Amino acid sequence: MAKIDIKNISKDELIKELVRMDEKPYRAAQIFRWLYKACPVPERSERYRASVKSFDEMTDLNKELREKLKDKFHITKIVLLDSKRSFSDGATKYLLKLEDSHTIESVFLPEEERSTLCLSSQVGCKFGCSFCASAPFGFVRNLKASEILDEVLFIKAHNKDRTITNIVFMGIGEPLDNYNNVIRAIRILNDEDAFKIGARKITISTCGIIPGMEKLAGEKLQIELSVSLHSADDKIRSKLVPINKRYPLSDLMTACKDYTRQTKRIITFEYILIKGINASEGDAFKLARLLTGLLCKVNVISYNQIRAKGYEPPAIDGVKNFIRTLKSRGINAMLRKSKGEDIDAGCGQLRISRL
Ligand code: SF4
Repeated sequence: MAKIDIKNISKDELIKELVRMDEKPYRAAQIFRWLYKACPVPERSERYRASVKSFDEMTDLNKELREKLKDKFHITKIVLLDSKRSFSDGATKYLLKLEDSHTIESVFLPEEERSTLCLSSQVGCKFGCSFCASAPFGFVRNLKASEILDEVLFIKAHNKDRTITNIVFMGIGEPLDNYNNVIRAIRILNDEDAFKIGARKITISTCGIIPGMEKLAGEKLQIELSVSLHSADDKIRSKLVPINKRYPLSDLMTACKDYTRQTKRIITFEYILIKGINASEGDAFKLARLLTGLLCKVNVISYNQIRAKGYEPPAIDGVKNFIRTLKSRGINAMLRKSKGEDIDAGCGQLRISRL
């Protein structure tokens, strides 16, 4: 019988398994702490040492239980293939190999007051946004919850002097297209015997998958939702974010309004400015019109150049003018600096250079 991936199950599910094995339910919290809280120094070998890599290291469990756990469960591991650290802001990008040899990227973004992890949710992506480095190689598969948690464990172990405060699902893949596994991972990130990261510190970023947004609104999770908008014009947005043909702006805005009404939470819209495409003053007016009356803020990001994409960022005056125009129309907008520009930190860029 195939072994159960132990990082893929919740604490309640682990309790049920333990009871089936004639063990005490409180052991689940102990095992969770070993899996997610302890983070010994990584070994020098290529293989990453997760918080613990074997049940033998769970030294406060008796030997008999450790043997039973070994028979029933498997602890996944993730391996570092490459990393790049930004000299300008300390952002570090990791290229990681999964157990089936597929690769993903995760980024560590340290700031003075907080440390953010940008996680992948899929191997590749099926949504083909025209500005994105992840798009050209297509979709391979969803990440399991355990693999998402392995990204966190890996970065935590390699940055032991920092406390991870924030998680954003903005790496490779569309998190709402891998809904169940992402939510499963978030619940373990929340768990007090695991990472204990508050839901408000976790952001899901979507290109506008409306059924996923509707489902998320009903979860009663206090997480942040960010929508990649990039244009207030259906024709332009369909070129930049092709899923717009299926979920056009009018439907997307209705879904956003429903989401804010149900959750009472602000939506953040991400808007990447690309010279000659979506960055004019007229584009800003259109955007302001689209968002007026919606509980939201806009993060404006100047395009982070990707070789072979042919897009360019606008001049800084154009960026400032775009934000000024939004603000003059009552839209809460701010410039977000793209971190790690000197290390190709846009999602998928390191993976692409390997592929
Ligand atoms: S921007 Fe996000 S949704 Fe679009 S192709 Fe890239 S990873 Fe996929």
